[in-house]
Amino acid sequence: MHSKPPLISDGLRAKFQAIATETAELVPPSAYANYVIIDPTTADLERILPGAAIYVGQTSELKSRIRSHLRQAIRPDPEHAQLYHYMARLISRGAWPLFRVLETHTNRIDCMLAETVWAQRLLRSGARLFNTWPEQSRILTESSLRRMQRARLLLLSLKEAEAVDLHLQIACRAGCYTLMAAPKDLAVWFGHRLTLKGVRERTRRCPECGGQNRYALVNGGLADLNVDPCELPGFQSSDLETRLFLQELSEFPLFAASGPNGGWPDTFA
Ligand SMILES: [Zn+2]
Repeated sequence: MHSKPPLISDGLRAKFQAIATETAELVPPSAYANYVIIDPTTADLERILPGAAIYVGQTSELKSRIRSHLRQAIRPDPEHAQLYHYMARLISRGAWPLFRVLETHTNRIDCMLAETVWAQRLLRSGARLFNTWPEQSRILTESSLRRMQRARLLLLSLKEAEAVDLHLQIACRAGCYTLMAAPKDLAVWFGHRLTLKGVRERTRRCPECGGQNRYALVNGGLADLNVDPCELPGFQSSDLETRLFLQELSEFPLFAASGPNGGWPDTFA
C-alpha cells in the first residue's frame, strides 16, 4: 500500500501462516467472516472468549487479513493505529494475539451489519476496542446505531449493492418522479465501482425541476424480513438484529439530499 512491506523472517512468516490457517479453518470458501482479535493476557469479563477483545473486523479474505494484521503488528509505523502498537507490545512479551471467528455470512452486507452489532455487544460486555468507526468504538443507542449502519450501507459499491439486491429509491421532493433504481442499471451510468453514496452525490437535483431529490435504500432481495419484533430478544442474535434493521430500512427514507448538483443523466427522468 503506502509503504514497503517490512522484512519478515521465514520463521515469522510460517508463524503468521499457521495462525491464519488455524483461525480460518472453519470458514467456508468465499464466505464473509466477522472476527475478533483477542489479548490473551487480559481476562474476558464475561469469560466467553479466551481473553479480552481488542478489535472486531470483517473480511472475505480471512487468512490474508490475519497475516496483514500480524505483519503490521511486528513493525508498527508511528502513524499506525493504536491497535498495532498494542499488539506489538503483546508479541514482544511473548503473548501472541488470538484471532477467533465470530460469525460467517454469505454476503458482505450481512457481514458489515453484523460487525457493528458484534462491536456493540462486546463494548457492552466491557471490552475496549481499538476500532476507529464510532459505531464500533463506543456504546451507542439503538437509534444512532441504526443511523450509522445506514450510512455504512451507502459505502457499498454498485457491484456490491447488486450482489445483495439493495436498491436505491430516488425521488424528487417536489413530486416530479419516483424512481426505483437497481444497482446494475445505475452501474450503466456510473460504473460498478461507484458507491451508493457516490450516486447520491451525483444525482442531487431533479432533472425536471432542478429541485432536490430524496433517497431511500430499499431491500430488494433479502427475503424473510417479516419477523414479528415481539418475538425477538434484544441483543441476542445479530442475524435478527440485522433483519430488524433491514425491515426498518425499507420503511424510512435514508437521507435528506442537499448540496450542489452532480452529473445526473437526463435519461432517469
Ligand atoms: Zn422535480
